[in-house]
Amino acid sequence: MSKSVRVRFAPSPTGYPHVGNIRTALFNWLFARHSGGTFIVRIEDTDVARRVEGALEAILDGLRWLGLDWDEGPEVGGDYGPYFQSQRLELYREAAQRLVAQGDAYYCYCSPQRLEEMRKEQARRKQPPGYDRRCRNLSAAERAQKEAEGITPVVRFKTPLEGQTKFNDLIWGEVVVENSTIDDFVLLKSDGYPTYHLANVVDDHLMEISHVLRAEEWLPSVPRHKLLYQALGYEMPLLAHLPMILGPDRTKLSKRHGAVSITEYQEQGYLPEAMVNFLALLGWSLDDKTEIISREELVRNFSLERVSKTAAIFNSEKLSWMNGVYIRSLSLEDFTQRALPFLERGLPPEVERPLSIDYVRRIMPLIQERARTLAEVPELAEFFFTTELEYDASLLIGKGMTQESTIEALKSAQQRLSELERFDEEPLEAVLRSLAEELGLKTGQLFGVLRVAVTGRTAAPPLFQTMAVLGREKCLSRIKAALEKLAPKLC
Ligand code: GLU
Repeated sequence: MSKSVRVRFAPSPTGYPHVGNIRTALFNWLFARHSGGTFIVRIEDTDVARRVEGALEAILDGLRWLGLDWDEGPEVGGDYGPYFQSQRLELYREAAQRLVAQGDAYYCYCSPQRLEEMRKEQARRKQPPGYDRRCRNLSAAERAQKEAEGITPVVRFKTPLEGQTKFNDLIWGEVVVENSTIDDFVLLKSDGYPTYHLANVVDDHLMEISHVLRAEEWLPSVPRHKLLYQALGYEMPLLAHLPMILGPDRTKLSKRHGAVSITEYQEQGYLPEAMVNFLALLGWSLDDKTEIISREELVRNFSLERVSKTAAIFNSEKLSWMNGVYIRSLSLEDFTQRALPFLERGLPPEVERPLSIDYVRRIMPLIQERARTLAEVPELAEFFFTTELEYDASLLIGKGMTQESTIEALKSAQQRLSELERFDEEPLEAVLRSLAEELGLKTGQLFGVLRVAVTGRTAAPPLFQTMAVLGREKCLSRIKAALEKLAPKLC
């Protein structure tokens, strides 16, 4: 009978939640949800010196934002807790002591200074770094002597000097490593905290983890883990190391490539649905071509067989495109509700708050078509809210037009618009089309002039809808302002 699926996301709260970590969380979550298994969050907080205030909250917030709910872990508890490694120190100590008692580990009394000198010497001689095993075979008397000197030892694993360690990875296949290349790594530090290797193995065993899905960078750690599993008499979970994520220049994804923290993407107005879709395709694919895949479809179709070995490229252009697709698929009301906080925050301070939701609702259809992120919404919609538009008067003069013909066009439009009965899209279009003809202008010329006059920009949402939303009063006062810019003396 196959064991039930239990997978874990095991972040260390040592910094912001990197998109690479969140991709790992997502793959674990998808795998658990696909197979009706359990998704566990375990906090690997044993590196006290590297702990960062607020990192844990940011990681959990990131998971919540993406809808990656966990069945066991912080806040929700579970039968295999505690889920913080810092609260499980006794378990690691027991395991380390057992290994020492069995002869698979030993106390090492070497001082940090000695280890540092050893490393330098190895570097000088161009030897691979690694502990020189000085304490591996200390006699009882030698140990007692060190203890009497008051030195607190670390515990090191007694790696076999010969033979090979083999393991199988579901993505990478069989991996074989010569034991002679593995040093006697530390299990327990002198402050009583475990290293990653020991804590990870003990917890994956005690939490009955069935599959370990994590980033490729951990692949080199597996031989050590395998040796530990064997020595402790534990069964090793199945392994699947997820391919690296690279920037477009094929170097490891980092801040140089732009935002790497999931929090930043949230702040920049990416939708969680788009983010999930995008991250799922970093190393996995449905069929090598489908780009837009809903969360439900991802859960239904996710499989480790379709996880690739090839490094995934993080293409922010594609993410923006995808986000635009998701934005356009939202209902207008949903889009409005999501855009509102960005507008409240992002519009210039002189715009009166709180914003009128009715006015916002009329503007949003024009913006939804264009925005690629929610953070772009204030900039795209700003001219609907501000009293004065700032732009260069030269923008007003249409293609193939002069200052005079532009002034004439604006004045005639002013006249027609003030007489127009219903200031709606259709009558606006009708009256302005016939005006263009009367003035002997191409519609593009007249509309271009008016677009700049009423929006302050050359590219904006469709003109007549925009004018209808702005309303007669605003349009007329903006045309007046445009005329003043062009010919201050004439007006
Ligand atoms: N704490 C490790 C990390 O931050 C976990 C690695 C693993 O999943 O084994 O990535």
